[in-house]
Amino acid sequence: MTVSSSADLPRSVTAASPATASADVAPNPAAPAHMQAPGVRNGAGKGEDWRPALSASRAKEYQRCPLQYRLHVVDRMKEPPTQATTRGTLIHSVLENIYDVPAAQRTREAAQELVMPLWEAMQENTPEVSALFPTVEEFSDWMAQTRDMVDHYFRIEDPRWLEPAGRESHVVAQTPEGVRLRGFIDRIDRAPNGALRVVDYKTGRAPSPRFQEDALFQMRFYALLLELTDRLPARTQLLYLKSGQVLTFDPEASDIERFRYEIARLWDAIEADARRGVFPARKNPLCNWCGVRAACPLYGGTTPPLPEEGIEKLLQTRAS
Ligand code: SF4
Repeated sequence: MTVSSSADLPRSVTAASPATASADVAPNPAAPAHMQAPGVRNGAGKGEDWRPALSASRAKEYQRCPLQYRLHVVDRMKEPPTQATTRGTLIHSVLENIYDVPAAQRTREAAQELVMPLWEAMQENTPEVSALFPTVEEFSDWMAQTRDMVDHYFRIEDPRWLEPAGRESHVVAQTPEGVRLRGFIDRIDRAPNGALRVVDYKTGRAPSPRFQEDALFQMRFYALLLELTDRLPARTQLLYLKSGQVLTFDPEASDIERFRYEIARLWDAIEADARRGVFPARKNPLCNWCGVRAACPLYGGTTPPLPEEGIEKLLQTRAS
């Protein structure tokens, strides 16, 4: 895996002007009908495969703490949006919709013009996000940082030269071991020779080399998904918009095959927990950020009884 920073890449744009940032508190027209509203998946409900499947983030979550995985996947506990997750959703939506604009017009300014209408569409779809900002100042700071991250994207790539083969692609695949996998891939590029590149946008901090394991897990997971449904991607990349860093991993068939066995073993472990009805809590460095801590016995919480329907559904992840 290689890491590069925006300093290595052409800088074709400058930072947002104060005038742009101040426009955030002014009323704006609603999102045009052709825009994909933030948080709404392309093709959702249009005959896609929504049967239970394992995602990269949930698989990693199980490795960290089986109880946290259970509470999210089996009990279906939802966590309320935060300023950080809301920013992530909004920026992903901007970077998805910018590719609807004709190639020559995909400028930093065009992306910035998408921010406000998409934010308004998001407020309509998820009204609770408005309550995240008790003061105008807090909203303005948040929006200024959001706009900065949109600008940072243009330091990493120039979308005028790209024509994605897929955006927010919902990919479902079954491994030879019968485990159904799912991923929403931010962008898939296809070269004229058919080679694939997977691109994922990140709005959090880039991990230090010691903590790049999670990033690598996600890239391998996407590589496996595409190998099973199309072809092994030649390259996978995580674009960290805050710092301008890019993590690049070029998968090899033998490595992805080993990863596939790792996923099969992981699923065996999940299935065994489900059949025993016990998903143990496991303390880990992310416990302080755990959204289901109130139901964790290691922190004085009470875990609810295991919902049987949830277990039945979970066990459908492996095809019989
Ligand atoms: S607080 Fe920690 S141990 Fe408890 S459920 Fe959350 S991640 Fe697991």
